[in-house]
Amino acid sequence: MKTHVQAVVIGGGVVGCSVLYHLVKAGWKDVILLERDQLTVGSTWHAAGGFHTLNGDPNVAKLQGYTIGLYDELEKISGQSCSLHRSGGLMLADTKERMEWLKMAHARARYLGLETELLTMSEAKALHPLLEERYFVGAMLDKADGNLDPSGTTHAYAKAARIGGAEISLKTMVQELNPRSDGGWDVVTNQGTIHAEHVVNCGGLWAREIGRMVGIELPVLAMEHMYLVTDEMPEVVAFNKQYGHELPHAIDFKSEIYLRQERSGMVLGTYERDCVPWQPRDTPWDFGSELLIPDLDRIAPNLELGQKHFPALERAGIKTVINGPFTFSPDGNPLVGPVPGLRNYWCACAVMAGFSQGGGVGLALSQWMVNGDPGFDVWGMDVARYGDWATRSYTNAKVRENYAKRFSIRFPNEELPAARPHQTTPIYDILRSRGAVMGDSWGLETPLWFAPEGTEAADIFSFHRSNDFPHVGAECRGVRSGVGVTEIANFAKYTVAGPGAAALLDRLMTNSLPAPGRLKLTPMLNYGGKLIGDFTIAQTKDGRFLIWGSSQAQKHHIRWFASEAPSDGSVTITRHDMGLVGLSIAGPKSRELLQALTDEDVSNSGFKFMEHRTFDVANVPALVNRISYTGDLGYEIWVAPEYERRLYQEIVAKGTPLGLVHFGMRALLCLRLEKNFPTWYRELRPIYGPIEAGLDRFIDFAKGDFIGRDAAIRERDTGGTLRRVSFVVDATDAEALGDEPVWHDGKVVGWVTSGGYGHSVGASLAQAYVPKELAEDTAPGAFDLEMIGERRPATLILEPLFDPTGRKMRG
Ligand SMILES: Cc1cc2nc3c(=O)[nH]c(=O)nc-3n(C[C@H](O)[C@H](O)[C@H](O)COP(=O)(O)OP(=O)(O)OC[C@H]3O[C@@H](n4cnc5c(N)ncnc54)[C@H](O)[C@@H]3O)c2cc1C
Repeated sequence: MKTHVQAVVIGGGVVGCSVLYHLVKAGWKDVILLERDQLTVGSTWHAAGGFHTLNGDPNVAKLQGYTIGLYDELEKISGQSCSLHRSGGLMLADTKERMEWLKMAHARARYLGLETELLTMSEAKALHPLLEERYFVGAMLDKADGNLDPSGTTHAYAKAARIGGAEISLKTMVQELNPRSDGGWDVVTNQGTIHAEHVVNCGGLWAREIGRMVGIELPVLAMEHMYLVTDEMPEVVAFNKQYGHELPHAIDFKSEIYLRQERSGMVLGTYERDCVPWQPRDTPWDFGSELLIPDLDRIAPNLELGQKHFPALERAGIKTVINGPFTFSPDGNPLVGPVPGLRNYWCACAVMAGFSQGGGVGLALSQWMVNGDPGFDVWGMDVARYGDWATRSYTNAKVRENYAKRFSIRFPNEELPAARPHQTTPIYDILRSRGAVMGDSWGLETPLWFAPEGTEAADIFSFHRSNDFPHVGAECRGVRSGVGVTEIANFAKYTVAGPGAAALLDRLMTNSLPAPGRLKLTPMLNYGGKLIGDFTIAQTKDGRFLIWGSSQAQKHHIRWFASEAPSDGSVTITRHDMGLVGLSIAGPKSRELLQALTDEDVSNSGFKFMEHRTFDVANVPALVNRISYTGDLGYEIWVAPEYERRLYQEIVAKGTPLGLVHFGMRALLCLRLEKNFPTWYRELRPIYGPIEAGLDRFIDFAKGDFIGRDAAIRERDTGGTLRRVSFVVDATDAEALGDEPVWHDGKVVGWVTSGGYGHSVGASLAQAYVPKELAEDTAPGAFDLEMIGERRPATLILEPLFDPTGRKMRG
């Protein structure tokens, strides 16, 4: 075994072997995989081997598409068969809502380049005669679905990696990881110590333990999962004889089962609601290739319904029952990337669908390690998407919820209840008593909308306009015509200080830095010139910088800031989290309200647009920004949490005579659409460049170098390929949600990033990316957005519908 390597990959499951193969492919040959026993002994060996492309996050779906496309290449390179069965798969809808969901999935597949087809039940029955069509209303066929041999596939990755120069050491257990002063690791094993520049945790069922070796608690939990293998079934034999091919896979959402052909019988697995975690605290090191004791009673209701929907199953004998554990993160997507706060410690764990995702995870992680960038939009699976609030008990509750709901519809207005409320601000109870319907924003309870007295403070889940529509409408109109207050504690806030602060930020951000007492908006780019952040920055009078950004992205951002910061102690970066909370007041009467709360001159000339000040508001020391994401006259008031109740109560006391309304995040997001403002995570992501996103005016090309400048100049000169655009949609009872295809001249040309109703302008609005050549086609109805299976005409608008000149926010 080598004693010095560039990278140690810990774990010989499908994920570790894929990471090893991709590292070699990306050019790192001096790499070793350490496996404490034999390859596949974790959750890999007993997987059912199914693969599919669909995922709630289109960027993860793309990586799944990559994984599935990789297997032929892998067989060729390794000479090892993966036993591929590309039989296609059916998703079966039993309700109108599920059919709507399938229509949306089918529409999204169009722009992802995936081949899906909506089927009537007689068409579905023709493909899969074992199903009883009267229990379903329609189906979707995904031709990319199939299954493989988990062990063969893992060995194919391993062989291909070895051919490329990698080493694999079996029976080599990693016992300790000790950081070295050179930034690398001493990897202590039962076979000796290896000095590694990088380590990758691909520990699967033991990922938590390998995390604990370096003092972190990864939000990962294993769940028990059962599937049955039937004896030979005459119906399957007859089908194969008649058609000369296998039955397609099927997912029956109603009975929460998936099934596929296995030899001349079937495999049938369940995602039961009554699910059970496995080893919630520690995974025993002596667990190997044994299986767990099956509990058929637990899945009996699923099996009973499944047999009704597929009657031949009732007559089939059961050959084997497999019960095995595999791991999940709280949202079910993998945890991939460099762990914030550690040097050269990488993660590729919580991969719950190793045979759909393993290839994509390996590709993204290897590029990240070798090139410093994953090369894809991996926000949906970045290990940095969870904060310290994702504790073991939080993870336990969320993973169980996610497993139990795996085959349930997730509605766009559905907030999942497990492990909540988790973090709350000092005014949480007051807002709740005012009818606030709360949402989870990076673990923090945040008001979404306010139910007036006599109205139930709860969402009715739907893809269409729902019960919140009139109330959010009233909130928006209240802001636009008078003044509203909302809580904005969920924004990320940082202070960057020290003699090197300005130089660091100047290099990180595309815009020049604000003068003392001023604010600036600025994107942040990666080295390839793609968007990785969008911030408001203030410079205080004493030369510190306060930064506000997206809450979800704060660990990503702090990781990036830290990786670019000088190590000479000249810069300190502080993430404030709940140490700084905020209220925003907005609307034409917000100045009058602010003036009633302070003796500072806040007239338009006394406190100008984009100004940042420190003064007392309601006798409370506050940082005040003259800016509002509503696009209206407005202010953000930031205070220490111990002052928030006082500030809020005074705002309500002084605001009530002015007709103050409470508004929530949903109203805020509608109001910003009326101004064509983009939002992080929807319009602004690392797949877009700043010119494409329409952020040109926030780039100061003249200021000198900054990260991504060369690429941004190229994009400016060529114009890039895409443009963010805004649409008025001819919608009747549903708004665009995001991820719908955009049609133009009979072709899909782009995708929606977000949508909502502009209540104060009376129009359904959406933002989307389209080719730049089409970005000025304002002919009425020149585009269609495919919403819930229906193409709705949409008209591109170049100016925001609300206050196009910005007079109101500046005035
Ligand atoms: C019943 C069942 C059915 C499934 N069906 C499917 C399916 O149809 N399709 C699909 O895509 N997925 C399926 N899965 C999930 C799939 O098995 C996992 O996604 C996949 O196995 C995860 O692989 P991994 O490499 O991350 O983890 P693991 O397979 O758990 O591998 C981790 C490896 O790390 C090694 N290791 C741990 N600690 C150390 C250490 N300290 N030193 C050295 N080595 C160490 C372990 O020995 C192990 O080999 C199923 C899982 C189960 C249980």
